[in-house]
Amino acid sequence: MTPSAKTLEAMYLMLCQIKPFKSWNLPNTACINFVVTDEEDSYGTYVFDDDIHIITISKAKCSHFETILKTLAHEMIHMKRYKHKAWDQHDATFRRYAKSVADEFGFDPLEL
Ligand SMILES: [Zn+2]
Repeated sequence: MTPSAKTLEAMYLMLCQIKPFKSWNLPNTACINFVVTDEEDSYGTYVFDDDIHIITISKAKCSHFETILKTLAHEMIHMKRYKHKAWDQHDATFRRYAKSVADEFGFDPLEL
């Protein structure tokens, strides 16, 4: 599949209904800009800038539902931490959140 801003928003809303995302109090979609790029160097990115959350997914790297879902989940872990200075890090806290996602979804935590 080819991701679009609409499908990313739909997948985001789905994930927000499932543990652990459900309890994370993540931003409303009105505050999120979902962007699809042709970026060759990364699957996705998350940035918080001027009170707007920007989630970018590369259609050059993500063409399967599973890849898009895992990449979106990864960026949502960064988003959970947007108020903290280490929001962009893959540190112990990030890995703990990733493990909680992986445990719920049956993903490999090292892949998230
Ligand atoms: Zn990351």
